[in-house]
Amino acid sequence: MTTAAEVIQQHADLTKRWCEPNPRLSEYIGAFAEDVAQRRGIGGAVSMFYPMRSSRDPEPWVRLIGKGLFTARTYQVTAEMCRVTTQAYRKTERTSTVISLDELPTESGFIWLDEAVMLHDRQGKRIGIRAVTWEVTSAEYRGKGVLSMVRLVTWADTRVKDDYSPNWEPGVLKSSEKYIGRLQLQHVCVFPLDYAVDVSSSDNESPLTDDHVAWFHAMLMLMATDISSTHNAGLPRSVLGDVKKLVKHPRVSVVDIHRTSQPHGNRNTSRVIEWTHRWLVQGHHRHLESYEVTPHRAIPERLDRGHCAICESRITWVRPFVKGPDGAPVKSADVVYRLSR
Ligand SMILES: [Zn+2]
Repeated sequence: MTTAAEVIQQHADLTKRWCEPNPRLSEYIGAFAEDVAQRRGIGGAVSMFYPMRSSRDPEPWVRLIGKGLFTARTYQVTAEMCRVTTQAYRKTERTSTVISLDELPTESGFIWLDEAVMLHDRQGKRIGIRAVTWEVTSAEYRGKGVLSMVRLVTWADTRVKDDYSPNWEPGVLKSSEKYIGRLQLQHVCVFPLDYAVDVSSSDNESPLTDDHVAWFHAMLMLMATDISSTHNAGLPRSVLGDVKKLVKHPRVSVVDIHRTSQPHGNRNTSRVIEWTHRWLVQGHHRHLESYEVTPHRAIPERLDRGHCAICESRITWVRPFVKGPDGAPVKSADVVYRLSR
C-alpha cells in the first residue's frame, strides 16, 4: 500500500524532472514526437504535442508540462476504485462522448493509481498506467476556432511489467528510471471540452475515442457519483517541507469506494459492483427554459457557462449519477452509459 506521503513525493519528483529536464529526458521526448510523426503523420504529432514547434527542440514543451505539474492538485485513487473504474470503462457502451469543463474537479491534477491500470495503445500494446495528469488549456481545434481544451497525459511505471519491456524483471529498467524517471510519459493528447463527438461515426482518429481518454472519463464520472468518496490524507510535516517548492497545493485527496454504502463495511462485497441493468448518466448541461430552435444538447457558452451557446437560454449542470433498474426511466436527452455485461 502506497502512503499519501509517497504519492506526493512521486508528484514532486515528476515536477522536478520536467521543470528542469536533463538532456536525456528532452531527447526521449523529441524521439517520441519524431516517431509519432513517422507513424501518424505530422498532423498527428502536432496535435498530440501541441504547442511543440519542432521535435528537435522539445525542451520548452517538457518545461510546459512541468509547469502544469506544479499547479496540479494531488489525488490518490485506491486499488479498489481503480478496479471499479476499469470495470465501468469496459462495460460502457458509448455512442457519443462529450467531456465538460464541469466534470474536471480542478484545472490541473495528478492522479496516482494504487493499482496500475492495464490499457492498450493504438498499436495494441499493453501499458501499465500508474498516473494520469491533466491541465486545462486552450487551442485552435479543427477550424472551429479557439476552444477550451484539456491536455491529458498518462504515465507508465517502470516497475510494472508491460508489453514494452519483453525481458522485464524487477529492477531491469533501473538505468531508464535513473535518467528519465520512474513515471515515464506514455501517452499525451489534447482534446476539446464541451464538444460533442459522435464515436460511432468514422472519426476514429478523434482523441475522444481514445482508450486512455475513455478510462479517464469513467474515472471522472465515478468520482462525481456517490459510488466514491474523497477525503484528505494527513501528511507528515517533514514531507510538506520537502515538496512545497514542487507542488503548489501540498495535500493529497484520497479517492475510494464509498464505504458506508456497503453492508458492515465488508470490503469483499464492494469489489464487484453489479452493473447489469444499471446506467451511468453522464454529467450534462440541461436547459432550464424552453427554446425555439431544433432540439439539441445544451452546451455552455465559453465565457458565460450559465447560458447555452446554441440557443442562449439558461442552462444548469446536472452531476453524473448511477441509475438502478427500479428508478424512473432515463430521459433520452440525457447522455447515458449503459453498464451491461
Ligand atoms: Zn440550447
